[in-house]
Amino acid sequence: MRILLVEDEKKMASFIQRGLKEQHYAVDVAYDGEQGLFLAEVNTYDLIILDVMLPIKNGLSICQELRKKNQDVPVLMLTARDEVDDKVLGLDAGADDYLTKPFAFEEFLARVRVLLRRKRKEKTTKLKVADLELDQISHKVQRCGKELNLTSTEYALLEYLMLHVNQVVTRTMISEHVWNENFDSFSNVINVYINYLRNKIDEGFPKKLIHSIRGTGYILKE
Ligand code: CA
Repeated sequence: MRILLVEDEKKMASFIQRGLKEQHYAVDVAYDGEQGLFLAEVNTYDLIILDVMLPIKNGLSICQELRKKNQDVPVLMLTARDEVDDKVLGLDAGADDYLTKPFAFEEFLARVRVLLRRKRKEKTTKLKVADLELDQISHKVQRCGKELNLTSTEYALLEYLMLHVNQVVTRTMISEHVWNENFDSFSNVINVYINYLRNKIDEGFPKKLIHSIRGTGYILKE
């Protein structure tokens, strides 16, 4: 899951970025409204977190511009002020949720998870494909009841595949949703990570779950 954070206070931005990375999200950060809008338009995000007061362009106008262009990406607004007016303006600008700073990080993460699963039919935080299970809160992954140790990138890749079970997932989709801006799309990093994942998920099990689609990408099949 890839998230854009637009926040001009450097300390706050790095605190949130670190916390999100610990949850295995791929995060891009913009420190002003112009850069934020640019990134939101050129990349594909699963969630955008917008501070309201920003240099050059504020969070409300970024949100309005995205909605005008029919971008329906979930938006979580952050503000330092606890004013009803701001909340109303934010929601009217097209934001999906609103959080006042300072906030408890656990609550922030819970809201992030709610927004990320908005489009899914099943509202659970436990993903299950055949005998493979992934818990989005504890980040535990099990196959046949046996716990598997995944790195942060392996976890993010597996989560993405599980969210698209029985669908072909292209390398472009993976690079857009599992890695952040620093990803080199010409490298063979995706293949390398798919192999790491296969060794952990499928090795030693008679039924293989991860399959390659030649020239296109991969599919996780039940
Ligand atoms: Ca600010």
